[in-house]
Amino acid sequence: MAVQKLLRLGNPKLYEVSRPVERQELSEMTRVVTDLHDTLMHFRDEWGPARAVAAPQIGVLKRLVYMFTDEPTVFINPVLSNFSSEMIELWDDCMSFPELLVRVRRYKSCTVTYRDLDWNEHSTKLTFLSELLQHECDHLEGILAISHAIDSKSIVLKTEREYAIGLSAN
Ligand SMILES: [Zn+2]
Repeated sequence: MAVQKLLRLGNPKLYEVSRPVERQELSEMTRVVTDLHDTLMHFRDEWGPARAVAAPQIGVLKRLVYMFTDEPTVFINPVLSNFSSEMIELWDDCMSFPELLVRVRRYKSCTVTYRDLDWNEHSTKLTFLSELLQHECDHLEGILAISHAIDSKSIVLKTEREYAIGLSAN
């Protein structure tokens, strides 16, 4: 088990643009995926639900996202496209600032194109995971959910969750 330290809000590395994964780096990326899995599980033990983590959050500036919902999925060099015109609003959170909730607006659906650890390409239309992949792909660009805060009342402490839910009103 190799739980890695999660970079926290304010760490300058979280604002850097990650580099594409090259095919010859796949064995190294397999080790990174193990670290991402272990770190995600450890986070869940400490903080509760979490669905995905991006490599730069453990200081690896590569375009790699690891998601574990019903089953594990590795997204190498993910690219989003076909954004819906319809948007949704939600309270988002992040493993790099688990004390906060941020009200954001995301595309209701989009398509993700990516490679897996065998370098096979996939393209999947996303509906209920659309907001999650938008959050994770932002990490690869050095963009955090707080940058998407809708207004000055859109960043709240989770301890004030009741107040936050009242604000959402939809
Ligand atoms: Zn995040």
